[in-house]
Amino acid sequence: MSNWLQIVVAAPAHSAIAGPLTYQSESPLPVGSLVRVPLGRREVLGVVWEILPDSGALLEMQTRHVAGVLEGLPPLSATWRKLVQFTAGYYQRSLGEVALAALPPQLRDLSSVQLARRLKRPVADTSHAPSTASLMALSPEQTAAIAEFDVDTRPALLFGATGSGKTEVYLRAAARVLEQDPAAQVLVMVPEINLTPQLQSRFEERFAHLGKERVVALHSGLTPAQRLKSWLAAHAGHARLVLGTRMAVFASMPNLRLLVVDEEHDPSYKQQEGARYSARDLAVYRAKIETEDATHDHGPCRVLLGSATPSLESWQATLAGRYQRLTMSERIAADEGEQASLPTVRRVDMNHQPKQGVIAPPLLDAIAQRVARGEQSLIFLNRRGYAPVLACHDCGWKSECPHCSAFRVFHKIDRTLRCHHCGYTERVPRACPSCGNIDIAPVGRGTERLEEHLAELLAGVKRPDGEPPRIARIDADTTRLKGALESQLASVHAGEIDVLVGTQMIAKGHDFRHITLVAAINPDGALFSSDFRAPERLFSLLMQAGGRAGRDARHSGASEMWVQTFHPAHPLFEALKKHDYPGFAAQQLAEREAAGMSPFGYSALVRAEARAQDVAQGFLNAAAAQAEAQQLTGDGQVTAYPAVPMTIQRVANIERAQMLVESSSRAALQRFLAAWQPVLFETRQQAEFKSLIRWAIDVDPIAI
Ligand code: ADP
Ligand code: ZN
Ligand code: ZN
Repeated sequence: MSNWLQIVVAAPAHSAIAGPLTYQSESPLPVGSLVRVPLGRREVLGVVWEILPDSGALLEMQTRHVAGVLEGLPPLSATWRKLVQFTAGYYQRSLGEVALAALPPQLRDLSSVQLARRLKRPVADTSHAPSTASLMALSPEQTAAIAEFDVDTRPALLFGATGSGKTEVYLRAAARVLEQDPAAQVLVMVPEINLTPQLQSRFEERFAHLGKERVVALHSGLTPAQRLKSWLAAHAGHARLVLGTRMAVFASMPNLRLLVVDEEHDPSYKQQEGARYSARDLAVYRAKIETEDATHDHGPCRVLLGSATPSLESWQATLAGRYQRLTMSERIAADEGEQASLPTVRRVDMNHQPKQGVIAPPLLDAIAQRVARGEQSLIFLNRRGYAPVLACHDCGWKSECPHCSAFRVFHKIDRTLRCHHCGYTERVPRACPSCGNIDIAPVGRGTERLEEHLAELLAGVKRPDGEPPRIARIDADTTRLKGALESQLASVHAGEIDVLVGTQMIAKGHDFRHITLVAAINPDGALFSSDFRAPERLFSLLMQAGGRAGRDARHSGASEMWVQTFHPAHPLFEALKKHDYPGFAAQQLAEREAAGMSPFGYSALVRAEARAQDVAQGFLNAAAAQAEAQQLTGDGQVTAYPAVPMTIQRVANIERAQMLVESSSRAALQRFLAAWQPVLFETRQQAEFKSLIRWAIDVDPIAI
């Protein structure tokens, strides 16, 4: 007798296969089993999703047989399947796409023999030696945060200044959970593991007493084999702590009791292709369902978000009482008896500075003083390359990209013009391509030119040892090679660099002890951006960058954060000066509430790409008109705005358009999107939109 199974296989969202497929199997298989099944002429990995009642001979003739089972692997849990199902529904993607993307790719290619070999553990290591790591005494704020966390059940937001010791709180919270229950597992997520290589060793050391390989990493920088190994260890329950990036939110962890999301405001938690999920939001959801589904009495599965500048969504949730708020406002002093304080913020009013200068004289002077004292400075601006454009002053030619609606950036180092959107690169022309003038010149500044410029400006300054200052640059160009970033950071840590120039890449997360000056060269763009989240991102970037300065208490009295701006009185900078995140958040939330924007309203973007802009826009508008005709928008609960070109309208010769859909109700927006999906598919089939290249829905977009 056959068993009828609904099996989920990988299917792109836009294929005809949206739901699970029916297969038969001679032996009964539990839900959640990993199997190999025929699909067309291929054999693919699948997950048993549902068991169907016996429906007799009819199905028997039409359905194919399961080709094999991944022997020895326990089935994926009901909670894991619920998480995947929710993600697919909420972010409007197919179940198969989400489910299979959440599994390590190598699982697909493994033979039974290979899998058996991997599952064989050398020795079941169940030693639970007590921890021997000597723990530092907690600060009063850390002690209070942990105590409060312990007595609540809501999602918690640890609002802790940079340097207040959030990591230690995560470690203690994790240790508590792991000790209380010998099977418990903890998931710790960070935005970018490569930027914080120290973090993994810190966790490994702290939990070394739990036994071998109890702490594993899960991120895209691993080899497929490493990733499979970590995944299997987590799935089998052997790994007690998983440290990973956003993808780790889908790790199969049968005994998950705590999720930590460090730097929860970081945009990299939002996946930007395929299913555009927010790993932070899913972590909160996962904690909820893990609690509901726990079979025996574990107490709740908790989630702990942490940031010095929380997302306004999480902040608002604490104001509304849905999340618990834990506050740590003091920096940890490096030496006893000293008080580590946050850097003094200095605004340079660029209206009163020499027109041509990129670095205003008072800032230059402050940098020179640091060099002379043997202290480090960190200078960042938002554009890599030498100059954002190359221009001809005779005819007005500019180095536009022929394939994008953007300028190519001049990179002096190899004398190229590079498009940062499509990658199109050409040697710099000898003369203006349009009028032949040989006097074409760079306009504006990128990191490369700033580095060169600083070297000139500081030429007369001497370090304490009488040597000239050592200037270095870190950005996407200097860190292309594997290991380059690590070695560059190491030389900053070792004190081999006096002035570090870079993009916002350097403002994040590094614990630079000897930096006493941080400067933002041109932050104004974000103040008047069409993206309502730009001020939030700028504020958080500046607070983080400032957090780089003066981490070492010996210097922190004199550490400074400089901001060059044409709008020194802007409320954002006023709040920054006072290190006043709550004040900044209150301003922003008031504006957003008045405008019905997140977190007071909900939105989705539908993006479309085509060779011609009118096809992309036409498709979106036609689908919206159809939604209107079918009365899908409810009683005006959902608003779909007319399609518009995206800010960078053309990339690699592809025209891009987007449509914003808004509602004051999350549920209404979700209902609308679910009903609208099939309409979008149908519209796509119409003859006039045949040339559309692709479209996709982005729910809760983070950039507009
Ligand atoms: P955050 O993540 O909040 O910016 P970190 O966790 O990086 O802060 O901590 C800042 C520094 O303070 C780190 O070097 C850390 O080792 C140290 N630290 C944390 N807690 C304590 C403590 N209780 N006693 C002494 N040093 C601490
Ligand atoms: Zn010209
Ligand atoms: Zn381009």
